[in-house]
Amino acid sequence: MVVMSATNPTEKSADGVYNFTMDQPIPSYLIALAAGDLVFKPIGNRTGVYTEPSMLDKCADELADTEKMLEAAERLYGPYKWERYDIIVLPPSFPFGGMENPRLTFATPTIIAGDRSLTSLIAHEMAHSWSGNLVTNATWNDFWLNEGFTVYFERRIMEELYGKEYAEMLAQLGYQDLLNEVEGLAGSPDDTKLKLDLSDRNPDDAMSEIAYEKGAFFLRMLEETAGRVKFDEFLRNYFTEHSFQPMTTEIFLDYLDKNLVKKNNLKVNVDEWVHGRGIPSNISMINSSKFKAVDTEIGRWTTGTPAKDLATKGWSTHEWMHFLKNIPQVLNKNQLKDLDNSFGFTNSGNAEIACLWFQIAINSGYTEANPKIEAFLTSVGRRKFLTPLYKAMIQIPEGKKLANKIYEKARPGYHFVATSTIDRIVGYQEKK
Ligand SMILES: [Zn+2]
Repeated sequence: MVVMSATNPTEKSADGVYNFTMDQPIPSYLIALAAGDLVFKPIGNRTGVYTEPSMLDKCADELADTEKMLEAAERLYGPYKWERYDIIVLPPSFPFGGMENPRLTFATPTIIAGDRSLTSLIAHEMAHSWSGNLVTNATWNDFWLNEGFTVYFERRIMEELYGKEYAEMLAQLGYQDLLNEVEGLAGSPDDTKLKLDLSDRNPDDAMSEIAYEKGAFFLRMLEETAGRVKFDEFLRNYFTEHSFQPMTTEIFLDYLDKNLVKKNNLKVNVDEWVHGRGIPSNISMINSSKFKAVDTEIGRWTTGTPAKDLATKGWSTHEWMHFLKNIPQVLNKNQLKDLDNSFGFTNSGNAEIACLWFQIAINSGYTEANPKIEAFLTSVGRRKFLTPLYKAMIQIPEGKKLANKIYEKARPGYHFVATSTIDRIVGYQEKK
């Protein structure tokens, strides 16, 4: 079956010919097409999933809340203007988490965790139906208009569906990513500005968490300053008035000034956020009480309490992620064994958890995990997971050998977007 960012069939055509119509105008980067042994299953009235037959039931179950998400998004930011919202779950080589192609989000199979814990990615791609697809960044220098709005919006959708505490965990994970990114960009501080200058560069090389997380925290600051009611109304009007139009940072700032800042006599450091480097001091403080409880357990473990005695019952994927991100990133053999025996990290089927654990395993020379690391890297093609693992491996001499060995085997299964990044990390040269 062939599907694309347009009206789609739900069954294979007898003669292999497919026709598509797309009534809404879209920019060229949102045109996408997929062909394969695809089947379709509806989720709700306007939502459904395409994937290969062996994955169909798993995917439909994982994505069961999609229709509810769409209703929540509409309550927040106005009517969904694309008629249907379907998702295609792709093979593992898909290099991105998701791509918000209109009417048909393209998604990585790594969100199929079995417990619906990674569906904020769907909220993200769905949010692009407003920020990105309806009001589109005019150039990649304005990328934050797509991604910052979308991350902000994604967390609002998740809050609507699963409550404030859930959304705060996502925000705190994002905040930590932002801190790491700013630190990582110390050598090119201008890339920490929201409005970028990509002259003479490949835009993909400068895409970082800045557009996503600094952008989202900028909007969160505006929301907190203006109050949620006023800010939501402002955003709804912004999307309505600029539907199906491109948007530059300058036009947005002008609109923001007139319709939110001046209108409500707000005192906000907009220029510092958009054109300044780093993180302004009035960034929101995130206080996830669930993560505080995780911090307590980290404290107990690092001072000698065995892992099996920690209070981890009922922890979600996000709590485990916070745990793994905040324990020391180099551990001794006993500590590694203690954690692994109690929590089975090496055998985790959750890609987010596995990837964080494998980084610690590599940093710490925990060779017991090597077979699983190899299995992971040869069965997952999402660049977000590949990059930190290869980077960690090449830091240490034995790891370098392992990286080359695995990459040789894994590379043919990776997408070009992934190989072009990983080639550079491991210094790969194609054999002629
Ligand atoms: Zn996005």
